[in-house]
Amino acid sequence: MGIKEAKTIWFDGEYIPWGDANVHITAHALHYGSSVFEGIRAYETPDGPAIFRLSDHIDRLFDSAKIHRIAIPFTPEQVEEACRGIIVENGLASAYLRPLVFRGAESLGVTGADCPIQIAVIAFEWGAYLGEAGLTAGVDVGVSSWSRAAPNTFPAMAKAGGNYLSSQLVANEARRHGYAEGVALDHQGYVSEGSGENIFLVKKGKLFTPPVSAAILPGLTRDTVITLARERGYSVTEDRIPREALYVADEVFFTGTAAEITPVRSVDGIPIGAHRRGAITEQIQNDFFGLFDGRTADRWGWLDRVRAARPVAMTAGK
Ligand code: PMP
Repeated sequence: MGIKEAKTIWFDGEYIPWGDANVHITAHALHYGSSVFEGIRAYETPDGPAIFRLSDHIDRLFDSAKIHRIAIPFTPEQVEEACRGIIVENGLASAYLRPLVFRGAESLGVTGADCPIQIAVIAFEWGAYLGEAGLTAGVDVGVSSWSRAAPNTFPAMAKAGGNYLSSQLVANEARRHGYAEGVALDHQGYVSEGSGENIFLVKKGKLFTPPVSAAILPGLTRDTVITLARERGYSVTEDRIPREALYVADEVFFTGTAAEITPVRSVDGIPIGAHRRGAITEQIQNDFFGLFDGRTADRWGWLDRVRAARPVAMTAGK
């Protein structure tokens, strides 16, 4: 599935044509994975496009950069404004937003200390990540032979380019085995997460999900689901999950900005529950998608409305 090109990209403070947003072949990030990024969705709502949990995503972007000692040459407010602006510039009703910060071209020394820090915000239209059908029917997944990195190797909490080599191993192996997605265990053998999603299971009406210490990326959709489920009166426990607990769960689902809330109908060929989307998964999906069509009141200030004013170029804020 190719990217559906938009008109403009915000690059180092300016809106430039999509085709001009290029880097030199010696860019540090290309060689060593030295980038941090976000994936954010903007949804079409009755009041126009709204970006879901924008400030939380930008906070995580700055946290990822802090972990890797990357100084972003703009303020969080400026990056948020670029996220709103790029939607307006491209006239998008809904979008997937990809803010990307990376060490650019200057030297190929491993530290990257001399390299300029560059930043872009890309916006394009993107449908359901694991397929529209998967959202209702559920997807088939397999536990990966690749584990997540141990905590003292490289940081799982940072959403960094290099981390996604691990995700690629998991996702590509899963596709080779005919699964829609793979689930990685952590270095101790407990359930961690999908290649680009957090995972939940439901057992006897209660929800469980691996803790941050299980090498997960602390997902904002995960946090949203925990909030919505508790709001409905469900107990949600963050605890270590052995692989086989997935097999005997009543329901399993993934959460992620791209995957949204995707039910899992089988793990390693073992049917989960009734081998289709479970009732609690469906209820939480309805609450989640209801945020965007007005059925669920946004009591948390999660929707950041995009104003229709024409965006302006900016200079670095720090
Ligand atoms: N884990 C990984 C490895 C991911 O790439 C993502 C997607 N960003 C998630 C979990 C889910 O995070 P979020 O809900 O914030 O998109």
